[in-house]
Amino acid sequence: MIFLKKCFYVMTSSEAEGLRDVDVLIRDNRIAEIGRDLVVPEGARVIDASRHVVTPGLVNTHHHFYQTLTRNLPAVQDAELFEWLVYLYDVWKHLDEEGIYWSTALATAEMLKTGCTLSTDHHYLYPRQVTADIMATQFSAAEDTGIRFSPTRGSMSRSKKDGGLPPDSVVQTEDEILKDSERVIHEFHDSSELSMRKVVLAPCSPFSVSEQSMKDAAALARKHGVLLHTHLAETRDEDDFCMKELGRRPLQLMADCDFVGPDVWFAHGIHFNDEELGILKETGTQVAHCPSSNMRLGSGICRVQEMNELGINVGLAVDGSASNDTSDLLGEVRNALLLQRVTKGASALTAREAWKLGTENGAKLLNFPKVGRLEVGWAADLAMWDIHKLEYCGSLSDPLAALIFSGYDHGTAYTIVNGKVVVDNGRLVGIDEEKLIAGANAAAERMYKGAGIL
Ligand code: ZN
Repeated sequence: MIFLKKCFYVMTSSEAEGLRDVDVLIRDNRIAEIGRDLVVPEGARVIDASRHVVTPGLVNTHHHFYQTLTRNLPAVQDAELFEWLVYLYDVWKHLDEEGIYWSTALATAEMLKTGCTLSTDHHYLYPRQVTADIMATQFSAAEDTGIRFSPTRGSMSRSKKDGGLPPDSVVQTEDEILKDSERVIHEFHDSSELSMRKVVLAPCSPFSVSEQSMKDAAALARKHGVLLHTHLAETRDEDDFCMKELGRRPLQLMADCDFVGPDVWFAHGIHFNDEELGILKETGTQVAHCPSSNMRLGSGICRVQEMNELGINVGLAVDGSASNDTSDLLGEVRNALLLQRVTKGASALTAREAWKLGTENGAKLLNFPKVGRLEVGWAADLAMWDIHKLEYCGSLSDPLAALIFSGYDHGTAYTIVNGKVVVDNGRLVGIDEEKLIAGANAAAERMYKGAGIL
């Protein structure tokens, strides 16, 4: 049991008023009680929360963990998506098994340290030299850091020889993808309410996956009741590629593959026209908004405000670390709010609406019905930020919004996942931070050497 004593401010949901001076009791992996002057049960760990804003853990709906090893590479710091991808594929093809472990540990560690407690990952890179079970390696690293994890079995089946962007050495055949997708669902997917492991199927994008693979993924996902994900409507180049090579706009392609519906979400979703927004609304298809990545690659601005008004569910995501280049989801909440206001005005997205994207909407999108709020019976997934610091002075009239508008250090004091403290007084519990830094940097160096960068 964990007892959060005299919390300075508790945000229970994006609609409710925050609570001040309340205690929170966590029993097993759920919130058991929230109220004033609760009795401390015998044997409970007591954490003094009088300096802290306590919020539901943030939810990340799109990432590529392996890219944490190729952040900030000078050759593509100023490139747009297609040029950026073509350069990086030749670096990424040198990814090894240890790199998969360390990058998963690194990305999940960064997210936990900045308040995110549930994440997906879109790993679509299957280099020929990696014979290990990639998803098993990822689950093992996620278990070490302690995050609630719903990765995708990503895939690429359209290489350069078939008119796609990736090199032959990182793609698989349609048959290999289908067989392994079914295997990982059987081996790892747990559909229970507070599952720590869910599997999603995620062909990479229209310019790296054959139409057959998209159809195969959709059929297999429906057969097993798992979700579907892909990149869509990220750039104008993608529109041009789809019109030229496939004779349709990206969303029409996905509709033809039966790859739309409430069990589907698309990363980015920037270039949908009015008619296409109507299709998303009608079919219940959802969107992962990645504001930092979209700014970094100059891809455009997702129509989040209009999607909100139409009732299209939008979650929030950091995207891969080669186009962000952090895994800081609190930073993403801030950027989502600011970016929408650039074109839509100062009331386009409020602080609470931005929080909702990063919590409740994300949990709904990933199909975790008891994650995203701090209410009795809901998952004990939460973040605690010390707000009594100099950078927050003068902002305490609205402690939740202070986290978005003020501050420069997004590190939590404590992060709790499934009733376990995984960040304790600012430090990771499940993995030694120095060992993680050394392991991740060594894996990055091996990739750079393989690619002739170092
Ligand atoms: Zn992505």
